[in-house]
Amino acid sequence: MTSDSMDYQKILEGIYSAVEPLKGVGKVADYIPALALVAPDKFGMCINTIDGDVYLINDACERFSIQSISKVFTLAMCLSLKGEALWNRVGKEPSGTAFNSLVQLEVENGIPRNPFMNAGALVLADILLTSLEDPEQEFLAFVRELCGSESVDYNREVALSERKCAYLNAAIVNMLKYHKTIECDVERVLQFYLLTCSLEMNCKELAQAFLAFANHKKTFSYAGVSLTSSQVKRMNAVMQTCGFYDEAGEFSYLVGLPGKSGVGGGIAAIYPLRYSVAVWSPRLNAKGNSVMGMKALELLTTETAESIF
Ligand code: GLU
Repeated sequence: MTSDSMDYQKILEGIYSAVEPLKGVGKVADYIPALALVAPDKFGMCINTIDGDVYLINDACERFSIQSISKVFTLAMCLSLKGEALWNRVGKEPSGTAFNSLVQLEVENGIPRNPFMNAGALVLADILLTSLEDPEQEFLAFVRELCGSESVDYNREVALSERKCAYLNAAIVNMLKYHKTIECDVERVLQFYLLTCSLEMNCKELAQAFLAFANHKKTFSYAGVSLTSSQVKRMNAVMQTCGFYDEAGEFSYLVGLPGKSGVGGGIAAIYPLRYSVAVWSPRLNAKGNSVMGMKALELLTTETAESIF
C-alpha cells in the first residue's frame, strides 16, 4: 500500500480492536493526586497528515493532562530564544534513567543529560522565566497557535496538587540551583514547570501541534517562536533519542518514530513529511509510558510499514 492510498481510518479502527484487550493493564500515575482520579481505560487516537486530513477514534476529542509532552513545546521556545547556546545549559544525550532521577545530575555537576528529563525541563523553565516578559501567557499563546485552539489551558488544580507532593522535583531544582545551572528562585522555577506540565489538550489538538514538527520543510513560526528547518530536524532527533524516559530504546525498537510521552498517558509522535499522531490512554507501564498508547503506535507503524527505519 502506498502512503497516498492508506486508509488511516480503517487502520485506526483495527488498532482499537487490537488494543482493547489491554484495558486494565498498567496503572494510572497516582503520584500526582489529581491524575489518580482520571478514568483509567480511556483511549483516543488521532492522525493528522501533512496534506490536511484528520482521522480520529474514540476519546480523541477529550482533553487530558499532557504532562511531559509539554517539554517539546518549552524546548521549541528555548531553542528559538537561545539557538545552539542552549546546549551549554542542558545536554542532548539519552539518560537511560527515570525521568525524575537525580543520580546523573549529581555526578555530572548539575548539567542535565537532556531537556526531556525533569532536570532538563526545569532548566528550560528557568530560561523562559528569565527571557520572557510574561512566561505563563507567552507559553500558552505559543501552544494555542501551534494547535489552532484558543481554549487550550493550564489546569491549575493539577499543578497545585502535584506541587504538594513534588519532593523529587524540589530536590532536583535545589541541586540545579546549588550548581548555578538555574538563575531564578527555586520555587518559581518549580511552579512554572508544574504549570506547563498541567496543560490539557486532546489527541486532535496534540496531533495538530506536532504537525509542525512533522513538516520541517514548512516555515515554523507561531506566536513569535521561530525555528529553522534544521532546528526542527534537531528537535526531532532529541525526541527520538530522549523522548520516552528510560524506554527510548524500546520505543525506537517497537515504534520507530520521534515523539514524546507524558505520565498523563499521552504520546505524540511524528512521521517526517507524512503525518503526526497522538494517542492517549491513562494506564502506564513501569517506565511511565501508556500501555495501550505504545501498543497502538507499534501497530500503526507495523501495519503501515511507515516508520523512520
Ligand atoms: N509533572 C510530571 C513530573 O514532573 C511530569 C512527568 C512526566 O510526564 O514525565 O513528575
